[in-house]
Amino acid sequence: MLSFLGRGSAFADEHNCAFFVEGSDLVLLDCPMTAFFKLKKMDLSSYERIYVLLTHTHGDHLGGTAMLIDYGWFVTKVPVTVVAPSSELKEDLKFFFEKIEGCEDRWYDLVCAEELDKPWLVEAVPTTHAPQLPGKCFGYELLVRGNKVVYTGDTNTLEPFIGRLEAGSYLYTEVSAFKTAVHLYCHDIISDIKRLTDKGVRVYLMHLDDEKVIEETLKSTGALLAPLVSETEGENRMDNSDVLNEIYDIADRLYADMCSKDTNDHALLFGYLTELGKTIVGADRASFWKWDKRNKTLWTTSATGVDKIVIPDTTGLVGKSLRLKKVVVTNDPYNDPDFNSEVDKKTGYVTKSILVLPVADINGDFIGAFQLINKDGDQGFDEKEDARKLSLAALVCGIALESETFLEESHHDKLTKLKNRMGFYYDFSKKYNKYLTGETDKPLSLFICDIDKFKRVNDTYGHNAGDDVLAFTAGLINSACGENDCAYRWGGEEFIMIMRDTDLMEAVEKAEYVRTTLMNSDIDADGTTIRCTLSFGVRRFDPSLSIEENVSAADEHLYTAKETGRNKVVY
Ligand code: GH3
Ligand code: MG
Ligand code: MG
Repeated sequence: MLSFLGRGSAFADEHNCAFFVEGSDLVLLDCPMTAFFKLKKMDLSSYERIYVLLTHTHGDHLGGTAMLIDYGWFVTKVPVTVVAPSSELKEDLKFFFEKIEGCEDRWYDLVCAEELDKPWLVEAVPTTHAPQLPGKCFGYELLVRGNKVVYTGDTNTLEPFIGRLEAGSYLYTEVSAFKTAVHLYCHDIISDIKRLTDKGVRVYLMHLDDEKVIEETLKSTGALLAPLVSETEGENRMDNSDVLNEIYDIADRLYADMCSKDTNDHALLFGYLTELGKTIVGADRASFWKWDKRNKTLWTTSATGVDKIVIPDTTGLVGKSLRLKKVVVTNDPYNDPDFNSEVDKKTGYVTKSILVLPVADINGDFIGAFQLINKDGDQGFDEKEDARKLSLAALVCGIALESETFLEESHHDKLTKLKNRMGFYYDFSKKYNKYLTGETDKPLSLFICDIDKFKRVNDTYGHNAGDDVLAFTAGLINSACGENDCAYRWGGEEFIMIMRDTDLMEAVEKAEYVRTTLMNSDIDADGTTIRCTLSFGVRRFDPSLSIEENVSAADEHLYTAKETGRNKVVY
């Protein structure tokens, strides 16, 4: 959310200075001399006003701010508002600036943080730093493009800031490689920072006296060094590099998550990609739609506020873009006959502008669409420019969707709609893994079951009737699954249920339930009503044995059930 013109301590080559852009406001957090020299190289004329939020009266903060006031008045004609964190500091600053040549009071505004009515400023946060400055050191809580941002300024404690941080907030904290009473010593804050990053706070480190030592010390916490604006980016508009930094951040987190073994899932990937899309074009919402060609529907799970939305593929702007195979934009949806207002009706949201990019698989067949809603500002989406910016993210969405579809299909059995043997092993590599490694000592149980005398069904009523019996039985087993259970088609007419956190006798009970329910069910098998039974072998999973050995052990019980009369549960 913040970019840095410098992230060093006061005696470093580039003293700490962060900034962000909201509309036509350029907001600086402190303005040391080194930041002023960098600012001079940038095109400041595109801002209506520059705000400097001061954190304390450090000499070069005051000097740099005075230079900026001078420069703003004489050179760029962009006025400067100096924001003092408290009324006491406002008096100090007034005294100081009055004495400086080039800082006549008509050249700048001086306001207290409390008096400034800007949505991006939540409040100044008092903290402690140098002992000779009691009550005169502050951080800030900000709202930058809708995100909570906490900036500590110079501080020797995190205490005033920690309670303000929640999942998704940003913390920019000072940190020092040297132990002194005025700064946060890097070794002292490892566990605090780790706790914050675990909670989902994004933590950035600034005001660094020795970057290498600090980076190394806090590496395990997931905190990153505050992002510097490079010289070349600085020559362009600053909000551009700001957005770029956010894009790099999202890509960086996506990369880290996708490359860690246990979180390789598509929902996560789509979550990041929609966040990326929103950031790239500056939109309020993004969603990813999948085209179910067989059922002629479009569906999404990523529209905020609703679980899953399904609409006919002949309606809506997503439908239109897939039909026309091209980008579709509307900046006046309620007067667009193709706009489907169902989602707005369900969620109470008001759509003002929409951009849809259809996405294709590797063969070039369209399989879904990337939709962006409500572009920031009033001008709406630009069909060419915004689509150009989104193209790479949309391409990745297409490939992600294709890979998700492949994975789903290869792990499922078409006839019974249950997961197949590949899905079974995949689940053991992911969600059941901790039961194998001993990471949990909760029980894992399984049953394997086999339809009795099933060959006879095929021989008597035909193969289609056999298929109907398989689908019915699978449906029944599946409906017996609780949220910790999952059923698989192991092969032919054999099924397995894996039950997490379930001991042997609970598993036996579940098997009994399935057995008696099937036994009493009339099955419509290709027009004829028939009944079937199942035999079961049940085991508690033994982590000292392999997956195959565990299945074989259950299979031995199943064999016993078959040998001793069928339609029974053996464990
Ligand atoms: P038991 O009680 O000992 O299990 O006898 P069974 O007849 O059920 O066992 P067997 O293994 O002899 O026969 C299983 C039959 O299941 C043979 C095979 O043709 C049939 N089968 C396997 N997969 C399918 C399928 O997808 N559809 C149909 N209709 N039949 C299948
Ligand atoms: Mg059988
Ligand atoms: Mg069999």
